[in-house]
Amino acid sequence: MAKYIFITGGVVSSVGKGITVASIGTILKSHQITVSVQKLDPYLNVDPGTMSPYQHGEVFVTQDGAETDLDLGNYERFIDVNLTAESNVTSGQIYSAVISKERRGDFLGGTIQVVPHVTTEIKERFKRLAQKSQAEVVIIEVGGTVGDIEGQPFLEAIRQMRNDVGRDNVLYIHVTLLPYLTSTQELKTKPTQHSVNELRRIGIQPDIIICRSDYPISEGIRDKISLFCDVDRQAVIPLPTVDTIYEVPLLLEEEGLGQLVVDKLGLKAHQTDLSQWRELVRRVKEPHEPVNIALVGKYVELKDAYFSVREALHHAALYHDRDINLLWIHSEDLERDDSDALLRSAQGIIVPGGFGIRGIEGMVKAASYARNNEIPYFGLCLGMHVMVIEFARYALGSTEPNSTEFDAATPYPVIDLLPEQKAIKNKGGTMRLGNYPCQLVQGSRAASAYGQSLVYERHRHRLEFNNEFRPLLQEAGMIYSGLSPDGRLVELCELANHPWMVSCQFHPEFGSRPGRPHPLFRDFIGVAKDILREGAQPSLPLSS
Ligand code: GLN
Repeated sequence: MAKYIFITGGVVSSVGKGITVASIGTILKSHQITVSVQKLDPYLNVDPGTMSPYQHGEVFVTQDGAETDLDLGNYERFIDVNLTAESNVTSGQIYSAVISKERRGDFLGGTIQVVPHVTTEIKERFKRLAQKSQAEVVIIEVGGTVGDIEGQPFLEAIRQMRNDVGRDNVLYIHVTLLPYLTSTQELKTKPTQHSVNELRRIGIQPDIIICRSDYPISEGIRDKISLFCDVDRQAVIPLPTVDTIYEVPLLLEEEGLGQLVVDKLGLKAHQTDLSQWRELVRRVKEPHEPVNIALVGKYVELKDAYFSVREALHHAALYHDRDINLLWIHSEDLERDDSDALLRSAQGIIVPGGFGIRGIEGMVKAASYARNNEIPYFGLCLGMHVMVIEFARYALGSTEPNSTEFDAATPYPVIDLLPEQKAIKNKGGTMRLGNYPCQLVQGSRAASAYGQSLVYERHRHRLEFNNEFRPLLQEAGMIYSGLSPDGRLVELCELANHPWMVSCQFHPEFGSRPGRPHPLFRDFIGVAKDILREGAQPSLPLSS
């Protein structure tokens, strides 16, 4: 039977609870313990797919096509697993399941209540993941912070689990923040004491407290938390802010977290091996020459909107012993300002996914700049639409080619709704989602990057390359380098007369891992790193 680790957050959100959870997974995996992970999101949306990136950050897509919280991306990258829809549970899913059961008559005669109906539905989701994954340990993160109104049923459910599966099979970890007061130059433990009190009030006594802090945590502070929160001294684990998120598993392991979990859950102990991880962190921290990459998007104020893209760029750069100097460029700025000036130092341009017309013309300008100046360009989903629009405008000598997403009446709808999307009215969960096969065309840059003829990649879109325009754009120099196996859908395209202008209809960023960059990202950076830009020319040798 699986054992469960429940992770709650205290004091404030955004202290890196997701990274901490992912790191605990990395540590357990290094102890040769199989793990699976689940994120509980208390909001009432069924999934984050309908939320604006400004509200939620990136929507991470699993192989089986679930639109999920970006923490799942961190879990996948840290633990190197491919998760499924079962790994993200929201209040919206729980309530709609309970209400459909009620309508079906499953509870005939009864009054439906948060306890036990909602909490039972939540616990079913824990057990379903344990069953499906067959993992020895299921790590479950409760989103938000203790005290949130929406989080109450989830906390009640995790409390009940202790009796359901037995005390020895459940562990509660609380991740909290120790704020620093500049005036007295000290870290404060009171908010942590309060959030632990709040947990106790609802019947949960944490076994381990992980203390996030921007400053070193003294032994005195650890003693104090141990005393007031009734947690073993060695179970108060400091987690100061670090340079790279990939360092977190090493810090936690140094504090003995792995052994603590093994002991408390009575797991079979194995020798840990974090040597590969340690090597990765060593390489990440080494100084590297930067590659300037312009990320042209419409949500750039919120960096979390492009979390996986940023990570994938870093993985690729590390492969080439380089660092990424990411130039965040708001596509609307390219519409207003001198776009050439904004892009002048970029050695590569990436246009990631997005929805809606705002900022599109700025992205088209970026694609045009990349094509005319032979700057490597990588388009992801919307970035492919942008590349196709730009190239069609050039090939036809007209400003009219467009996607019907942005101009329903264009005479040249080079990007159009997928036929199967035309009748769909509901917005939630109805896109073309998750893994689909893509056959690579030999001799193309994409095929040479992959070194394989058939790949599976994750999708999240409604619109697609319009096949009517295939011959025209092909004649002008576009290569369709990846197609669905039936040849019907263009999944990858590139330009023949350009060093590297490649776009894909899918989201390769979700499949990139530290130490194993995605092949397209790897080759994009591989070409970009050798591009010389203004001010970056190597100095001439001094004459003697
Ligand atoms: N808006 C486009 C579509 O729906 C692109 C989506 C995306 O970039 N994920 O097809």
